[in-house]
Amino acid sequence: MRKQQTLIKSTYFSGIGLHSGKPTSIALHPAPPNTGVIFVKQMGDEMVSCPATIQYLEQTDHCTTLQSTNFKIQTVEHILSALAGFEIDNAYVEVQGDEIPAADGSAAPFVEIIEECGITPQEAPRNYIKIVQPIHVEGEQRSITVLPSALPRISYFIDFPHPLIQQQDYQHSCTPQEFSKNIAAARTFAFRQEVEFLWARGLGLGGSLYNTVVFSESGLVNEEKLRFHDECVRHKIMDLIGDLSLLGSPVIGHFEANRAGHLLHTQLVQAILDNPDKWILLNAGTTNKSSILNGTAATTANTHCLHELQPAFHSV
Ligand code: ZN
Repeated sequence: MRKQQTLIKSTYFSGIGLHSGKPTSIALHPAPPNTGVIFVKQMGDEMVSCPATIQYLEQTDHCTTLQSTNFKIQTVEHILSALAGFEIDNAYVEVQGDEIPAADGSAAPFVEIIEECGITPQEAPRNYIKIVQPIHVEGEQRSITVLPSALPRISYFIDFPHPLIQQQDYQHSCTPQEFSKNIAAARTFAFRQEVEFLWARGLGLGGSLYNTVVFSESGLVNEEKLRFHDECVRHKIMDLIGDLSLLGSPVIGHFEANRAGHLLHTQLVQAILDNPDKWILLNAGTTNKSSILNGTAATTANTHCLHELQPAFHSV
């Protein structure tokens, strides 16, 4: 039986928000068993929280945004992907600002800070959602299906009419080693017309060639070459891993994504919750299906531990 994991110590990371363009910082902290991942923020004398579960999803337009009472946090997908990719079940992500730092547009800098914190097993079993019947969502020429499988796997296919992208297909076995080696460094990508359109609307203000791969009509605007010839599909897998973590428990199943994105990823998360007859809980300990369905598997018991957290940032 696998045990839940958390971080050994706290660490900090600063940067700018991709959308706001404003300075922003996060601190990662260890959390007790059965906490899940919770975004927290010091507001006045109070520590407010927003669990990283689908029940708090606000929107997926350009980035994944979570919102609880009085607390909204944008661009959570890459830090969530790094935590899920490294099988961290329990962590507090303290934020200063309204957005997670863009870093270099990939999850690699977050992997570095997780490694700096160190990872430790905890005295609670790691529960899994094991898919026993296929679950499928689709949009126009887009779809994702999750099928029963002995091990967690992702197959992702994209097709863009650009000479440097075209059709890309990638198979990922979900292990921390594979995540670290093949997925984490894949950066956010965009097309020049799209970037110009976003900037005109006052969005993507923190976007730059440092944190985004920008494709021109036939080539690359960035001087830095692609990190992988199929960097785009690998980034899509990274986004999917982050979005799937909003289930609150890891999934054992084979995901087959076809031209998907944040909207479809999160629709699949909701579809899994809407079809509890198509999965079982393994090693559930004290967790039960209804607490996963309500998004309370992780959080009810442990928000009271928040007062023990030594905040890294003080609100102004
Ligand atoms: Zn992304």
